[in-house]
Amino acid sequence: MIAADFTTTLNLNEAGTEMYALVSELYPICRSITGSGVRETLRIIQNRIPLTIHEIPSGTPVFDWNVPREWNIRDAYVKNSLGERVIDFQKSNLHVVSYSVPVKTKVSLEKLKEHLFTLPDHPDWIPYRTSYYAENWGFCLSHNDWMRLKDDEYEVCIDTSLEKGHLTFGEYYLPGESAEEVLISCHVCHPSLCNDNLSGIALAVLLAERLGQMKPRYSYRFLFTPGTIGSITWLSLNEARLSRIKHGLVLACVGDSGKFTYKKTRRGDAEIDRAMAYALQHSGWEYEIVNFSPYGYDERQFCSPGINLPMGCFMRTPHGRFPEYHTSADNLDLVRPQNLSDSFAQCLRVLQVLEANQAYLNQNPKCEPQLGRRGLYRKIGGETDSRTQELAMLWLLNRSDGSHTLLDIAEESGLEFGTITQARDALVHHGLLKERSEEASSANP
Ligand SMILES: [Zn+2]
Repeated sequence: MIAADFTTTLNLNEAGTEMYALVSELYPICRSITGSGVRETLRIIQNRIPLTIHEIPSGTPVFDWNVPREWNIRDAYVKNSLGERVIDFQKSNLHVVSYSVPVKTKVSLEKLKEHLFTLPDHPDWIPYRTSYYAENWGFCLSHNDWMRLKDDEYEVCIDTSLEKGHLTFGEYYLPGESAEEVLISCHVCHPSLCNDNLSGIALAVLLAERLGQMKPRYSYRFLFTPGTIGSITWLSLNEARLSRIKHGLVLACVGDSGKFTYKKTRRGDAEIDRAMAYALQHSGWEYEIVNFSPYGYDERQFCSPGINLPMGCFMRTPHGRFPEYHTSADNLDLVRPQNLSDSFAQCLRVLQVLEANQAYLNQNPKCEPQLGRRGLYRKIGGETDSRTQELAMLWLLNRSDGSHTLLDIAEESGLEFGTITQARDALVHHGLLKERSEEASSANP
């Protein structure tokens, strides 16, 4: 049983500031699905939580895929005949199509344009493009810069390497009272993009730190993996242990100012789906709950039919639904500390419901026990408070036949979860309720 409230003694403003600072620190790094940018990112996370960094060799078969070759970039540019860099990787890492093969050549403007990507609808923004699984090269630039390119001979240099190496991912296991796990996952493969990528990382780090200060019932596993291939790799390596995962969340796009969006698990009725819906209903914030669809982030892998984990996806504005998505405008202005801190608070509320969501047995099930004799009748707080408390106790005593959990009772009664747990504490203290299963399983990493 979790004693303290996850959010008491927590300064949420400070947490928002810390998450924003972490986003800012990670922002300049050029990440991709493999390579030194991911390692550097994970090392920075390691300064805050004791992350284990795994290196999986290129070519390793993972389900229907193979771990790709490792990609690293040192420099890239396009120079005009005056020797001026008209496109310069040093100014923005978005300028180079991720996984571009090495190039050193001279081309005409016409030929160059075959390898250029722009966003005519947002002429100031640089798009974000990748070519992971098809050997290619390219540059991304603002449409305004593209319009300024003159007929000329251009020198193209992409100083990259694409060779046998490793896929790198980070994992942090936080043991709880039980060996049953909650899995929290985020992707670490995007370069200088804040909401899509860095906001999820910062939220996962702060959740890991906060849970590390508590004594959680569940064990928690945090994954910082490159999108798609990273989660496929982790799932392939850990298939035998997946039955331990009881709940999970994929975190992405949690720093913009849009309303909360929760995408349900493939199952649609998992405990995490109900806990999130309940916590959102009682949050006072605007939100939307959407059904699972096989498009989006790593829930696509976690919720594939042969894996089918109870993993939902927690976001604010989903991928592709904000104009800045996958462009240079997904920057430090799009993400705000307050939005990050509200997302953090919402996740803590959901985890708190999961942590406390157990079934109890009424120890005095034949008619109502006499609450007054035990000092439980109209004794707690003010008039309204005490009436709500009594109501919560009556619901708990009536439904605690071992088959209703606290969340069942909270949903049915419409009462706040905090009211239910307070009443539960009082009834347990007076020996009127007992956990259905007192024996806690031991935790193993
Ligand atoms: Zn993305």
